[in-house]
Formats: sequence, structure tokens, C-alpha cells
Amino acid sequence: MKTISVVIPVYNEEKGFKKFYTEMLEPELKKLKYNYEVILVNDGSRDKTLEIVQGMADKDSHIKVLAFSRNFGKEVALTAGIREAIGDAILTIDADGQQPPKLIPEFIEKWEQGGEIVIGVRGKYEKHGFIAKLGSKLFYKMLNGMGVKDTVPGSTDFRIIDRCVADEYNKLTEHGRITRGLMDWMGFKKVYIDYIYGNRLAGKPSYNFGKLFNLAIDSFISLSSTPLMIFGWIGAFITIASFILGVFVGIEEFIMGDPIGLKWTGTTCVAIFITFLVGLLLISQAITALYISHIHAEAQGRPLYIIDHKNSRNLKDEGKAKKA
Ligand code: UDP
Ligand code: MG
Repeated sequence: MKTISVVIPVYNEEKGFKKFYTEMLEPELKKLKYNYEVILVNDGSRDKTLEIVQGMADKDSHIKVLAFSRNFGKEVALTAGIREAIGDAILTIDADGQQPPKLIPEFIEKWEQGGEIVIGVRGKYEKHGFIAKLGSKLFYKMLNGMGVKDTVPGSTDFRIIDRCVADEYNKLTEHGRITRGLMDWMGFKKVYIDYIYGNRLAGKPSYNFGKLFNLAIDSFISLSSTPLMIFGWIGAFITIASFILGVFVGIEEFIMGDPIGLKWTGTTCVAIFITFLVGLLLISQAITALYISHIHAEAQGRPLYIIDHKNSRNLKDEGKAKKA
């Protein structure tokens, strides 16, 4: 019989997780005609989440706990869970109930029909802030504008990927990663399912503006080199424009004797242009620095995450880790 792996990143979800699992997710999994395993990636929670999920794993062998040694972020948690998964299909879903498990049968059906990546697209939001909506719109507009056309606006991490996708995904090594962006980039046969993004069962979302902003920057940089190009083009434009203006000022002021009465002085012009160019240089340098910092992170070749084996439960190479 085939197996479905369910990967759930959990971070400070002590209030709602057990309820989410027993009342919303487990009934759906029990209905399936497949075996299932549930991999809970504890992303360095600072509350009682770890104890709660360990307790659940001790009672139910379907549940595996992969504990990180600290918070590495949701994107890395998803990656670790997918690497741990042994299923023929892997479902990723948030721990807070915003992505409705009721739709799982529909996702599975699309997968059975040959969809290699079945993607949940967030249609409407329930009670979501204006800024969040605007930010997400802007994000997809900019991604598209930068030539990353594989991402459908509103696609979320609520998805099923086939084993063949997971095997390829597991080969990717980059650090500054955004899971859905990479998966969209990989190609394969995609199917979309619209759903309504619900409200959290409990607790607060841990993605604040700062974290989301960093995520957006990461995806722009890892998926596109357009930011570098834009400043190249602006630089070229400024150089040409300043050359033309320089010629104009030279002729108007110094050859024709200022017939329009603009009273340019050479020093003003030079000052304006130098300031302008210095500003531009600084911006373009900052962008280059961003890329270099990413290259730096990749070049260090550190592992993407550290597993806390003592606190993990039922993992596939737990035996090996204990011997080592
Ligand atoms: N999450 C995580 N690590 C983090 C932040 C969040 O594993 O550093 C998990 C969290 O427990 C939840 C999912 O990622 O299962 C989505 O997080 P959240 O609800 O905060 O984000 P949003 O709903 O705004 O996308
Ligand atoms: Mg959420």
C-alpha cells in the first residue's frame, strides 16, 4: 500500500496544535485508503510545543518528531520534513488550521490523477490585514516583473508533491530558500486548487513584517538577477543623460553666452551630478553586497539545519544516530 507523508512545521503552537491534529487533520488521514506518517518539525519552539508533540508521538507511531536545535524558519523546517519523508506523496500543511485539512481528499485525488505538484491557491482571506494583502500582491507583481513567471499569485505551501518531485527537491542545496519558489521553478506537472485561507485556531502568526520582508528579499535574490541588471540600466541611462546635459550646458552657457539666462555654473552642475552618482553607486553597491552575502552563505557550505536527536521521535535513521 502506498504511503502519504504529512509534513507540518510547528513553531510555538502549544495552544492550538493538539486540537488541530485530533479534530481537523487526523480524521481526514484516517479516512484515506493509504498508510500515512506525520512528520512534525519542531522549529525550536519556545513554549510547550515540543513536549506536546513528543507526547503525541509516544502514543501514536504514525507521528514522528524532528526537533531542530533552534529556530531555523519555516522554509528550512519544510525542507527537513520533506527530506525525512518516506511517502509516495508528501503533503505540507501549516499547524495553525488556516489551511483546511478538509480539502486533503481533493488534493489526493488530483495527485492520483497525475498531478505531480498540487498547489493550494489562497483565494480569499478571512480577516486579513490590508497591509498583508497589499504586501503579498506587490510581492507577486515584482516577482513576475523580474521574469519569475512560474509562480501563480496566492500559491501557498499547502500542497502535495509526488515522490519524484521530492527526490529532485532534496538535491537542491541553497540556503536562502523559499520552498514554494523553488518548487515552482522545478517544473513538473502542476495542478491548482483554490481554497479560503481561514483564521488561526489559536496563538499568533509568527511571521511579522520584518520576517516577511526578508523572505521577499531572499526570493528575489535567489530566483532572479534582475536587481543587478536594473541598476546597470539606470547607470547607463544616467551616464548618457548627464553626458547630454553636460554638452547642452557647455554649449548654452559657455559657447552661446547663456541666451536663455539659466546662469549655470560649472560647479553646480558638477556638484549635482556627483551627488546623484554617489547615491546610485551606493544603492548598486548595496545590491551587490546582498548577492555577495548570499554567495558567502552558500560558500560556507554549512548544513541547512541541525537536528536535536535527543528530542526527536520515531525518525527514519534514529537507530543510526544513536549508534554514532
Ligand atoms: N513556523 C515555523 N517556523 C517559524 C515560523 C512559523 O515552523 O519560524 C510554522 C508555524 O508553526 C505554522 C507555519 O509555519 O505552522 C505558518 O506560520 P504562521 O501561521 O506564523 O504564518 P502565516 O500563516 O502568516 O503564513
Ligand atoms: Mg498561519
